Amino acid sequence: EYVWLDDKMIKRRDAKISFDDRGYYFGDGIYEVIRIYESKPFLWKEHMERFSRSAKEMDLSLPYSPEETETIVTDLIHRNNLQDGFVYFQVTRGIQPRDHLYTRDLKPVLTAFTREAEVPVQNQKNGIHLWVLEDIRWLRCDIKTINLLGNIMAKRKAEDNSCQEALQHREGVITEGSSSNIFFVKDGTLYTHPANHYILNGITRQHVVHLANARHIPVEEKAFTLQEASEADEIFITSTVQEIIPVTELKGEMEASFSPGPITRELQDDFRQSVQK
Ligand code: PLP
Repeated sequence: EYVWLDDKMIKRRDAKISFDDRGYYFGDGIYEVIRIYESKPFLWKEHMERFSRSAKEMDLSLPYSPEETETIVTDLIHRNNLQDGFVYFQVTRGIQPRDHLYTRDLKPVLTAFTREAEVPVQNQKNGIHLWVLEDIRWLRCDIKTINLLGNIMAKRKAEDNSCQEALQHREGVITEGSSSNIFFVKDGTLYTHPANHYILNGITRQHVVHLANARHIPVEEKAFTLQEASEADEIFITSTVQEIIPVTELKGEMEASFSPGPITRELQDDFRQSVQK
């Protein structure tokens, strides 16, 4: 298995990270996860646009152009003979003796790996449970930074309570999952949190909004409260690796049950078709 480190493709066992990498000290970097179906990246352009935006918002310079990055990723997919799975890549600001104040002359470090991953068909069919908890993260959740402490704490709490994902809220206003966005259906309208600094603007989220528009399902980018969530007709989450997963139970700070509904199923079907195109 091969990985990318800095400026070369090497065997995974030979990959060694610098002691003074700012990613290691501060989580000072950004990343993307892109789905690979039949050896081809899905929604590549959208992911690269978000990657560039994250870099800009962090005052981070990227080591490669989008075209060069695509070449690196494509080579890695082929070298590892990846059919279905995802590619992960990140850029950290570079190597510098530990100092909060970063300098702008650092050489950013790109690392990338691929992983096989099947589409989670069982969860897509049967749904999952979400653990409801407070969103304790910072106020720039729109940046896809590798600094994910709040997210991993939420994920662990969810798992410890037999839930597959977390549902985070700020004073009763629902933001997103620990690694997914959340959608609600109420009276035929699809609701999801506006793409502001409280959430990561998921590429799958954006794709689902397009699919809903094409089906003439009304979409409103509006935050839901916990109270509104308990009265929703359908709830589902979206992410690159999981696609669209119905939510059948909310647990923790509030409790409610749901069944995978018709709009969720239509969007799942449309999603599959859009992948096959
Ligand atoms: N929100 C958070 C916090 C995430 O980490 C992710 C993905 O990992 C998402 C949402 C979903 O984004 P995407 O659909 O681009 O994978």
